[in-house]
Amino acid sequence: MDALDPSTIVVTAGRGTGDPGEPVNVPVELSSTYRAGGDVIYGRESNPVWVAFEEAVGALEGGVGVSFASGMAAVAAVASLVPPGGVVVAPEVAYKGARTLFQSLAATRRIGELRLVDITDTSAVLAACAGADLLWAESPTNPLLGVADLAALAGAAPLVAVDNTFASPLLQQPLAAGADIAVHSATKVLSGHSDVVLGVAVARDPEVATTLRAYRTLHGSIPGPMEAFLALRGLRTLAVRLERASATAAELARRLAGHPAIEDVRYPGFGSMVAPTVRGGAAAADAVCAALRLAVPATSLGGVETLIERRGKYAGEEASPPGLLRVSVGLEHVDDLWADLDQALTTTSTSE
Ligand SMILES: *Cc1c(COP(=O)(O)O)cnc(C)c1O
Repeated sequence: MDALDPSTIVVTAGRGTGDPGEPVNVPVELSSTYRAGGDVIYGRESNPVWVAFEEAVGALEGGVGVSFASGMAAVAAVASLVPPGGVVVAPEVAYKGARTLFQSLAATRRIGELRLVDITDTSAVLAACAGADLLWAESPTNPLLGVADLAALAGAAPLVAVDNTFASPLLQQPLAAGADIAVHSATKVLSGHSDVVLGVAVARDPEVATTLRAYRTLHGSIPGPMEAFLALRGLRTLAVRLERASATAAELARRLAGHPAIEDVRYPGFGSMVAPTVRGGAAAADAVCAALRLAVPATSLGGVETLIERRGKYAGEEASPPGLLRVSVGLEHVDDLWADLDQALTTTSTSE
């Protein structure tokens, strides 16, 4: 059979061997231990549902998947690949957790140097990569939606890892663009229902995947079987969810750009994230969040429900303009979402 379309792979991958009588979904296997004499010995080493989920994400990204307890556990596992005292290049403005982790590794001398860069400035990133051991990239970035030129960054360091959470493997494949590892917070759009915390790293080189798996076993940063089941179940509908959310995001970005209460709209041209900046700064943006009736004011992203948050309210997010709202577009009807945004923006801008 010809290579399958990714929208088919999300449905078909990780289904087991296909034998008659086999359950169509890999069942949740809740056992910490296994009778002696078989391949699997203990529940920290492997679980059939992790394997199924890893197969599916690995097939989509074009590498070997290793699932983790969370996106941050996957980031920490990738960071462990840096030799002691090594040099890491990472985005100055991107997911705060990853930057904070690398900063703490530098503070404790686990890594020798952390070079923070503007990941959208390709020549600056390439210059910073001289002598580096790991380039940690993220694109589009959280929350400013900056886009890195992944193909131009391929080979910039011995190890190039890309946080692909915002794009998903359906919109961007870092390994095909030349990266060594793609990382996801599967908590977000991969699982898609805001009901699970899980991460996954996909390595182009199977040996790197083996090292990541050994790290996971040793550090115990394993997903729960139920979490892996939920993530895989969510993944089955990724293509249709993304199609709907992306179309709505594009339309909302267009309408927001024409709204008098909006100063600026960041939208990378694909995906389900939009980041409008409200005129009037932090107070006006907070008032918009408080006035929402349909979209949910909450952190996180990638779920079926639209979530809106002012990232600038957090310490360490100073690069985010005070009035910027990170909008994770869900599956509600575009006109209902627009009506909600418009009433929240209009109420607050006329009451100033
Ligand atoms: C949420 C997020 C993470 C961290 O993932 P968790 O599952 O919360 O640990 C990493 N990168 C990006 C881009 C994220 O949005």
